[in-house]
Amino acid sequence: MTKKVNILGATGSIGRSALDVIARHPGQWRARALAGGSRVAELVQACEATGAEIAALADETKLDELAAALKARGLRAEPMAGEEALCRIAADPEADAVLLAASGAAGLPQAFAAARAGRRMLLANKESVVCGGALLQSEIRRCGASLYPVDSEHSAIFQSLAAATPSQREKAVIWLTCSGGPFRTRRDLSAVTVAEASTHPRWKMGRKITVDSSTLMNKGLEVIEARWLFDIPPERIRVVVHPESVIHSAVAYEDGAVMAQLGVPDMRTPIAVALAWPERVASGAAPLDFTALSALHFEAPDLERFPQLGMAWEALREGGAACIVLNAANEVAVEAFLQGRISYLSIARTCRLALDAGLSGDVESLEGILAADREARSLARSLIDSGRALA
Ligand code: NAD
Ligand code: MG
Repeated sequence: MTKKVNILGATGSIGRSALDVIARHPGQWRARALAGGSRVAELVQACEATGAEIAALADETKLDELAAALKARGLRAEPMAGEEALCRIAADPEADAVLLAASGAAGLPQAFAAARAGRRMLLANKESVVCGGALLQSEIRRCGASLYPVDSEHSAIFQSLAAATPSQREKAVIWLTCSGGPFRTRRDLSAVTVAEASTHPRWKMGRKITVDSSTLMNKGLEVIEARWLFDIPPERIRVVVHPESVIHSAVAYEDGAVMAQLGVPDMRTPIAVALAWPERVASGAAPLDFTALSALHFEAPDLERFPQLGMAWEALREGGAACIVLNAANEVAVEAFLQGRISYLSIARTCRLALDAGLSGDVESLEGILAADREARSLARSLIDSGRALA
């Protein structure tokens, strides 16, 4: 029987790649609900291409426009809008799997909704794992949900851990690989422009994650994501810069054996793994030709030029709301940088000052986590508006 997939973030980079994988297997999967942020035309186009039954936008003010656009195209997809509608789509009992691919902490309530409804979660939205922390993982277990990582590094770790026993996992070390971003070899980052930070050497992604990849905040968020997804302490998570992005991450076992997953950099591979696991299906990604690889390079990350990476371990050690604060400060600062309001180096400075403020919060409930996120955002905005975060 054809399995139904709901996609949150359907008009984004991950969402579009997922629709491409699904379209390759018409008898096996089809899109049931497609949700985006605020872009009506792209969502309607995706509904037309897939025959989706539900079209939803996070932006409530766009409901009438969405309904009219669907009608104008003669589409029967039911229009919905607003945060609650998106959470209903995440929890939808009719869906066999839910792809969580919104950008930023906006995806947090959706991840909790999917977890609490016991869904099969295909998770790209790393910010929800970073902010949800231990609570999200315990809700997933309590409610019988299952989580398949879509982030390429975490998909690689998931595959490299697949045959490990619990005692083998307990001693394993995780190596997250990192492309190094566009500024790997640039000494002075003080004059980085929005255009330079919006271009990634290996991956074509959404704007926010592209900037995060250039500051290595993305890798920092992935360290935190790995800590929770694989229940592994931060001191057993390492990062290595590997500019070719062929080794997607690795697990080193006690006996010296290292298991890694390789492939050309194409997000359709981890999406296909998450969709089909424990099976494997064609994803559209080109095969890896070892004979065409001239060399693979590795180096330690430079924590001085990229301090946000180090802040990830710091926030994990600090515990409490620290990871939520780091994530929120980064989201606010990246947005301000993209709007031309602050310099590139001010992004790291905002994160530094926000972490140092030592905000505390209740991380034992979703409401507490959302409150800590709001408080950290307002702190980051005031750091920026008052000029204190300027670097
Ligand atoms: P993107 O900016 O291209 O797309 C984001 C999508 O979310 C869009 O469809 C947008 O309309 C939608 N959206 C905005 N607000 C929303 C809301 N409140 N609820 C639901 N949807 C909303 O981003 P992306 O590059 O596709 O990244 C999505 C997520 O996947 C991020 O968390 C990112 O870190 C993660 N990720 C992306 C890649 C990649 O290659 N792009 C790789 C690994 C992980
Ligand atoms: Mg990644």
